[in-house]
Amino acid sequence: MDTQRETSVFHGESSTQSLWISVLDSLKQSLSQESFETWFKPIRCSRVENLTVHLSIPNRFYADWIGSHFLPLIIECLCQQTQKQGWRLNWEVDASLAEPAAAPKHETQKGIGERRGAPRVEKSVDNTFPLNPKYEFKNFVVGPSNELAYAAAVASAAKPGRRYNPLFIYGGTGLGKTHLVNAIGHRIQYDHPQAKIVYVSAERFTNEFIHALQNQSIHAFRNRYRQHCDVLLVDDIQFLAGRIQTQEEFFHTFNALYQLDNQIVVTSDAGPHEIQEMEGRLVSRFQSGLVADVQIPELDTRIAILKKKAEQEQIDLPDEGATYLAQAIKSNIRELEGTLIRLAAKAELQRRPLDFQFVRECVSVVTLPKEYLVSVDDIQKAVCEYYHIRLIDLKSAKRQRSISLPRMVAMYLCRRALNTSYPELGLRFGGKDHTTALSAVRRITAMCGHDESLSSAIHNIQQRLGLG
Ligand code: ADP
Ligand code: MG
Repeated sequence: MDTQRETSVFHGESSTQSLWISVLDSLKQSLSQESFETWFKPIRCSRVENLTVHLSIPNRFYADWIGSHFLPLIIECLCQQTQKQGWRLNWEVDASLAEPAAAPKHETQKGIGERRGAPRVEKSVDNTFPLNPKYEFKNFVVGPSNELAYAAAVASAAKPGRRYNPLFIYGGTGLGKTHLVNAIGHRIQYDHPQAKIVYVSAERFTNEFIHALQNQSIHAFRNRYRQHCDVLLVDDIQFLAGRIQTQEEFFHTFNALYQLDNQIVVTSDAGPHEIQEMEGRLVSRFQSGLVADVQIPELDTRIAILKKKAEQEQIDLPDEGATYLAQAIKSNIRELEGTLIRLAAKAELQRRPLDFQFVRECVSVVTLPKEYLVSVDDIQKAVCEYYHIRLIDLKSAKRQRSISLPRMVAMYLCRRALNTSYPELGLRFGGKDHTTALSAVRRITAMCGHDESLSSAIHNIQQRLGLG
């Protein structure tokens, strides 16, 4: 470590700094130089007080990575140095530290084991596109909308190339495809540290292919994707639509790997046969393994994802805040997470909790259609008022028409206005089966066509709720 680096790493003059210096010294003994330089060089220790070491990092990536890989080691060093227990680290993001040299580096085109980076994952992953350390199975929330894709991903990672080959995962934007494909890479890498895993977006594959053609380096290109590849993970294959030559190349790559029983995982924004301008023989290859979709998650899964994210980011998120937000943003997890982070920053600035009130103020009608401001409870209440029945009866198993009709109407309205899932509907109406909810919604939909008094009742309730 050069002198200039040392002064910048240990800026600040207090004697407490020497504690961090000695921690770094011990870490240096335990880690490879590459890991040390990648993860600890860009960090600054700003102060040490009350058993807390305050560290400035270029971005949250460092906190996550160091937290999940080196934390016990650091804490152990601190305890040893001070003979005190209970040390904690506090991370502060300082964007000014993020000069290019400070970002984690992943050199391209180096052999296995030569790359810099953290010991486990980056070691033999082809750095065409390093795996994202945040996207592991343990951070993935499983619900009815994604359980098939999740199970298939776990199974194919457990026996690469032998089950579910290829695995084709598809679904809308921001629903976890990239997360799952990365998680497969991490798991295989963990179980088989020598495996050569190539994770690449189809766009990158295309660009590299074109580049190889222009530079007469097609041999090297093929080597990389066919010979030096035990597992090929291709993200967003829809990018190949209409690119005939790249599709042809990919087809041969696919066959070469497939014949060797090497695992292939492909993600796409649409099912194999729905991708426009994709060659039939590729489509049939994709269909020959397991095709699994990820769908828009149900409310409960969205809430669980929010809570997990909040926990990861150390954001205090009360239940009603989470529920409101999950109700407001339905179709894209990336947006849901982004909004959470944005609101958390705003709440912190205003020193307010991220509760229902706050979230409702921030995520307001400006960006939301009115129905997002209504909850299942609101609908149930309005229906009870209209029909003059009690909430407890609405949620009961009573079958007389004076109760069952309002119950069906309320389920229908929840489905229409909030797109509540059938299992969720069953649950919210006294723990009924999802088929009960499904047939209720179907019956009301059918009846509305010819029953005028029912239509006007529904219209009336909608107006009361501000949904008219
Ligand atoms: P896609 O590739 O389908 O567009 P991503 O995998 O990039 O979507 O997911 C967008 C964001 O949402 C990521 O931060 C991802 O971690 C998160 N995410 C999506 N689904 C889940 C889930 N089931 N559990 C936890 N996080 C999720
Ligand atoms: Mg993606």
